[in-house]
Amino acid sequence: MSIRLKPGKEKNVKWKHPWIFSGAIDKAPKNFHPDIVIESSKGEFLGRGYYNPHSQIAARILSFDNVAIDRDFFKSRLNDAIQKRLPYFCSGNSARLVASEADHLPGLIVDQYADTVVTQFLTAGIDFYRDIINDILAELLQPRSIWDRSDDAVREKEGLTTRSGLSYGENPLPLVEINENGYKLLVDVRNGHKTGFYLDQKNSREKIKFLSKNKRVLNCFSYTGGFTVSALKGEATSVTSIDVSAPALEILTQSLSLNNLSIENHRIIKADVFDELRALKDRGETFDLIIMDPPKFVKSKADLEKASRGYKDINRLAFQLLSHGGHLATFSCSGHMDDLLFQKIIFSAAIEAGCDGQIIGRFMQSEDHPILLTFPESSYLKGLLVRKD
Ligand code: SAH
Repeated sequence: MSIRLKPGKEKNVKWKHPWIFSGAIDKAPKNFHPDIVIESSKGEFLGRGYYNPHSQIAARILSFDNVAIDRDFFKSRLNDAIQKRLPYFCSGNSARLVASEADHLPGLIVDQYADTVVTQFLTAGIDFYRDIINDILAELLQPRSIWDRSDDAVREKEGLTTRSGLSYGENPLPLVEINENGYKLLVDVRNGHKTGFYLDQKNSREKIKFLSKNKRVLNCFSYTGGFTVSALKGEATSVTSIDVSAPALEILTQSLSLNNLSIENHRIIKADVFDELRALKDRGETFDLIIMDPPKFVKSKADLEKASRGYKDINRLAFQLLSHGGHLATFSCSGHMDDLLFQKIIFSAAIEAGCDGQIIGRFMQSEDHPILLTFPESSYLKGLLVRKD
């Protein structure tokens, strides 16, 4: 089976970009196919991958070489991805083992939380190979359990329904304990966001630990408290955590006691960050370090303008709540928001807050979420560390 591209549409594939949009295709089979050869308009071999006419990204390339897409292929790809992560386990027992296109396995996410492995099969093509992949992961990692969290709405774009449940071994514990940067955290792999936790912020949390000493810290969008525990471990004077999610804040509380951290200098506020920042300002509160790590505001390019206003609002309020010389660690995990636009938004937030600032650091996704040079879409998390003047 093969698909043939329109004339001139082979350039991106020759540059090893793994996506083929439906508009680039001249001839293709009618139905889904898990193993297909992609050819240029002249019939040259370009790659092998899977084809799904339901998706705008109609084909994704698994290999730019003409190799069989079989168990050995997946074993070699998975083993390669896992071996690459080994150096980064020195600062904990959890990591993203497979990061989809960035590990040449489009549609597949594999996260390891201690002895529990969590998968996401996000495309029809990779879902087809689910049993083989689970079998290889069990063989290579010998985990206590493999739990599937293929309940992400992006599957709908592929014509798939959502699914979650046990794929291998025993049911995971209700809360899986992990180590990160020298402290413990709890992960709800069944009900938590994504696969349960935001592994991509590991390096940023380490940095926050060092910045927190003797600081009054405000952690906005705290989720289960990764940054909160880091700040308290870094000897913050006090930490305030804000999130709307009661289950996330319940896990945060348990994580504090797991690390023997006193709750006396910690305050939890269950609220909408937009409202609560205004309330804190009205009460005249100030902070020395503010962490602003909101969810993805930009879901598609069409949201960019509205989302930009959202980022500006919360960052303006953050600047207003910062003491003179205070630090703002501010993030965007929206792939559609590029670094320069984000920096411009933070600039206008500062102007509107009536202050200036200096960028003294930049954050990006941790090294277990690599950015493939040939697939710039794999870069999504960015952050700035700004000192308020
Ligand atoms: N910083 C966290 C991850 C943040 S994820 C970490 O390091 O683990 C984003 C969080 O924002 C989620 O916990 C979600 O519940 C929360 N959230 C989303 N919208 C919100 C809002 N308007 N106000 C408060 N919290 C919100």
